[in-house]
Amino acid sequence: MRTKKEIIVMKFGGTSVGDTDKIKRVAEKVIKAKEIGNDVVVVVSAMGKTTDELIDIASRITNEPSRREMDMLLSTGEQVSISLLSMAIQAMGYDCVSLTGSQAGILTDEVYSNAKILNINNTRMIKEIRNNNILIVAGFQGITTGGDISTLGRGGSDTTAVAVAATLDAKYCEIFTDVDGVFSTDPNIVVEAGKIGQLSYDEMLELASSGAKVLHLRAVEFAKKHGVVLHVRSSFNDNEGTWIMDDEKITEKMERPIITGVTYDTNEVKISVFGLKDIPGIASRLFGALAAENINVDLIVQNVSERGSATISFTIKSEDINLVKKVLENLKENLDFADFNMDPGVAKVSIVGAGMQTHPGVAARMFEVLANNDINIEMISTSPIRISCVIRKDKVRLAVKILHTSFKLDK
Ligand code: ASP
Ligand code: MG
Repeated sequence: MRTKKEIIVMKFGGTSVGDTDKIKRVAEKVIKAKEIGNDVVVVVSAMGKTTDELIDIASRITNEPSRREMDMLLSTGEQVSISLLSMAIQAMGYDCVSLTGSQAGILTDEVYSNAKILNINNTRMIKEIRNNNILIVAGFQGITTGGDISTLGRGGSDTTAVAVAATLDAKYCEIFTDVDGVFSTDPNIVVEAGKIGQLSYDEMLELASSGAKVLHLRAVEFAKKHGVVLHVRSSFNDNEGTWIMDDEKITEKMERPIITGVTYDTNEVKISVFGLKDIPGIASRLFGALAAENINVDLIVQNVSERGSATISFTIKSEDINLVKKVLENLKENLDFADFNMDPGVAKVSIVGAGMQTHPGVAARMFEVLANNDINIEMISTSPIRISCVIRKDKVRLAVKILHTSFKLDK
């Protein structure tokens, strides 16, 4: 048997394996990593827009496909890409084996289309690695304890990669994508946005949950829990990307700005419920009814008038708007409130940075910058390392630009 090498996990998204030429290029990248002396495990997504196309095909059969059959269907996308990539690597003269989620031992719960990984039985993966194979694992899929195919939710291949890296005790997990790394804000809005060199898990979690789209949120949570070091980088060049790790391991602390990134989310709707009684239990019943329908509520603000009636405003994701409307209409009589309205004209802008924990006055500065540009703040929420404001949607680009400049993030 060979001496044990270090394992690295490389994950390639749909655009990186979008056609056969791209698959060959990925094969070359993987071989290069193997040649340097690592054991390499690759996780891939379905080619290009395959998953969307499969969903579209199903919708032409029925509006209500069962979730079990949907997972059966969607998992085929990744089965195509793993086999083709494995063939490409074999054709270049290297030993390579592809494994479906089930063959790789990825056990999940039975929540089809949004399953959670419960456990990984890594025996097969380790056997193939010991035999000096490059290993290709299908992203996004697993097998339930009952033996059915499950999928992990859209974008779930990131989570597969991190989970595989954790169970194999990999040195790090590289996420190859179509951008150079995590940026200080959206480069489509601010051309001066720069690539961030290093981030803590907590900063990445706040960036991802407040609008940055590079990484699947659940993958970052998983990485944090298991201490998997992540490297987000481009699959189209060899540039260093963004490293994400434990705050204590970050070496760039000295030159770290107070704010790491500015994010925005235009996918929010503001709901206001008027004329609520100002007595105990009202908020609990209102939000309890929303929670019972699995509706995620983001920011919440309550105002109480002198006459003791209250207005509660909160934001939700736009895709939940019809469901929320139904819940509130059903609740109106029972909870005895006057009315409600739904305002899709809002957006959320956030600043994120671990540096704000040690620098007072960051919130005041954010509000001042917005005020100086005539941007009204409708709601505010904070975490120890994030401040978010709900503003008018048509001001969001301006807000992102001026905040990026004011907090000295322009490169
Ligand atoms: N192919 C799946 C999707 O498009 C999983 C992934 O890309 O990570 O959502
Ligand atoms: Mg995809």
